[in-house]
Amino acid sequence: MEATLAITEAVTKKPKPDPNSLQFGKTFTDHMFTMEYKADEGWTNPQIKPYAPIEIDPAAMVFHYSQTVFEGLKAYRTKDGVVRLFRPEENFKRLNRSNKRLSIPPIDEKSAIEHLKQLVALEKDWIPTEEGTSLYIRPFVIATEPSLQVAPAKSYQLFIILSPVGSYYPTGIQPVSIMVEEDTTRAVRGGTGSAKTGGNYSAGYNAQAKATANGHAQVLWLDGMEKKYIEEVGSMNVFFKINGEIVTPELSDSILEGITRKSVIELLKSWKVPVSERRVTMQEVKDAYDNGTLEEAFGSGTAAVISPIGELTWRDTTMTINGGETGDVTTSLYKTITNIQTGKERDPFGWTL
Ligand code: PMP
Repeated sequence: MEATLAITEAVTKKPKPDPNSLQFGKTFTDHMFTMEYKADEGWTNPQIKPYAPIEIDPAAMVFHYSQTVFEGLKAYRTKDGVVRLFRPEENFKRLNRSNKRLSIPPIDEKSAIEHLKQLVALEKDWIPTEEGTSLYIRPFVIATEPSLQVAPAKSYQLFIILSPVGSYYPTGIQPVSIMVEEDTTRAVRGGTGSAKTGGNYSAGYNAQAKATANGHAQVLWLDGMEKKYIEEVGSMNVFFKINGEIVTPELSDSILEGITRKSVIELLKSWKVPVSERRVTMQEVKDAYDNGTLEEAFGSGTAAVISPIGELTWRDTTMTINGGETGDVTTSLYKTITNIQTGKERDPFGWTL
């Protein structure tokens, strides 16, 4: 069953923000996409309508047991007006994997992408074109059934909201300082770490506050069992260049499968740079640092694309990586991926839509 999309245009349009003073996720466009799920009808009633607050029952199950998932991707507009989405089919695949983990019924990925394309086309003028800017796209699902029963809801709503975002690196790509977190854990084996669900993020705020208080940009997360294996950095996947080889933690149910991570691996393979997905211990990274083979480190994610790690603090050791400068492989990955995203470079992989 494929319901037709109803479009209601906003009567008054908001003024567009100054692209040079955009803060991440604070400004929203004129329209949003919504769709509902009802137990007897499935996903239904797709609509594009004016962006506005919603009315929701205080007993809606999302507020009580956090049955919710989300996604994050970006659209870019070239100077000559061409709009490009970066690997949206991967995001909707991941949304459905998250749905499955949170007992939320799957959506039809193909029609979701079609609806997203229509929404983005309608909001085309909201996509900034300045270097490094983009339109951040936030699809999310919430359980709407009013009930305090501890069980999957019978009704849901999916939204897609859009937010123009400024350059992550207004003064050029900058290495950051990272603190290895050993007290709290982001995700555990058998938990929800490989799903994009709200609670995974709010549970990381304490560690982030500690890192910030100690002058670090973000935390590096270790596995929850032994606090031995490296998992992720902040809300990014993590890579190290050790003795000429790029290594990244292998996927498990406590690691989010990043679309930037996937792109980095595909790109490195196409460049014939050795890359391996395997378990990496913090001790291995420290040993590589001590023997001079820790050459580069970076995080990967939609927001920053590639974020070089200049310093890594573990217990009482601070490792300065590549003299605190952005390494060559890190720079090449950042340039190539952002050039493909913005259409400055040919897209041999068919990543942009
Ligand atoms: N890990 C976590 C926990 C994240 O939230 C994200 C952002 N979605 C990533 C990694 C990077 O994923 P992507 O490259 O798809 O943005």
